[in-house]
Amino acid sequence: MIPAPYGGKLVNGYVDTAHADSWKEEFEETTVLNSPVDCVYDADKIACGAYSPLQGFMNESEYSSVIGNSRLPGGLPWTMPIVFLPLGNQEQKLNSLKPGDTAGIRGLDGEPFALVKVEEKYVIDKGEFAQKVYGTKDPAHPNVADLAGTGETAVAGRVTCVGKLRVPSGDYELTPTQTRKYFERMGWRNVAAYQARNPPHTAHEYIQRLSLEREDVDALMIQPVVGKLKKGDYKTEVIMRAYARFVENYYPKDTVLLSSLSIAMRYAGPKAVLFYAIVRRNYGCSHYIVGRDQAGVGSYYDPYACHRIFDEFDVGVKPLRYRESFYCKVCGWMASSKVCPHPQSEHVNTSQTRIRSLLAEGKPLPPEILRPEVADVLRQGEVIND
Ligand SMILES: [Zn+2]
Repeated sequence: MIPAPYGGKLVNGYVDTAHADSWKEEFEETTVLNSPVDCVYDADKIACGAYSPLQGFMNESEYSSVIGNSRLPGGLPWTMPIVFLPLGNQEQKLNSLKPGDTAGIRGLDGEPFALVKVEEKYVIDKGEFAQKVYGTKDPAHPNVADLAGTGETAVAGRVTCVGKLRVPSGDYELTPTQTRKYFERMGWRNVAAYQARNPPHTAHEYIQRLSLEREDVDALMIQPVVGKLKKGDYKTEVIMRAYARFVENYYPKDTVLLSSLSIAMRYAGPKAVLFYAIVRRNYGCSHYIVGRDQAGVGSYYDPYACHRIFDEFDVGVKPLRYRESFYCKVCGWMASSKVCPHPQSEHVNTSQTRIRSLLAEGKPLPPEILRPEVADVLRQGEVIND
């Protein structure tokens, strides 16, 4: 069944057309805070309901409860703080801001985008934030590195917007209301979410197909996390183009929806994975596919901790957990250690590192690793963000 939104009701932070003009007037007079792009994306996801039941940026008691107990104050599991931490040079403006005031956030294009009705301001210990959420204070960790640019004063409060954020993935970005309507129209009751952050290779395809073959799954929603890029990431348009070519060539039209999720990627291992599963429930998904070391980076997390977190917390989404998969030359097929008895020397490595080094050396990308349509996309021009 299409699950109810997390917490029971889909949050709607969009003001209706009758109030759009007064919203715009209010924005003209408000204190605009320069914000990391992470917060711009989060404001968009609060407003569209992807972060239901959150109606705004977290207050201090919500923040403490989440980093201390991995739950919202009411007891609902929630592992990722959603806090509005403006950039470090905004302290003067923040000092003048009082509860009851509004703060403005501009969109990626500089246009008025979101209003935050200030409920409270509080100071965050960024070292504690990093340690509790990412399990490290190492500045080499990408999300920890980003914290260096923000201030320490968080602004809590309800978010309103006049419309969707304009994002690099364009029409692929759908709201939970839109995906839920689409699922209903297609007659899909059980949809498995597939989280991605790279163009698809054969090991991704293998676990997507295994999930789609299940009797209790009607369809897949493939939803790459795009938008904010770090150095060395594939460009958003490359990921979406590669997935579009892949989906149109290898899946029936009535079993897969490709959409994007424009937020800052959280590399927090298990905590990030539980958060991503909650978000996909809000988009209407009943199942969530978890491979090895999802949302991991470097060697900060146990690669299977992202499987075990679902034993600890029930967020109303069924996890579909898969071991690492590979192409086996003896089996002549995609496989994992659960179904293939052959030594590692017979396995073809499908990792992104391998794909990138083949690309950089101008060598062919073998079909055991990539579908030719995907390989074509990756060979066209500059595909990596630098
Ligand atoms: Zn084998």
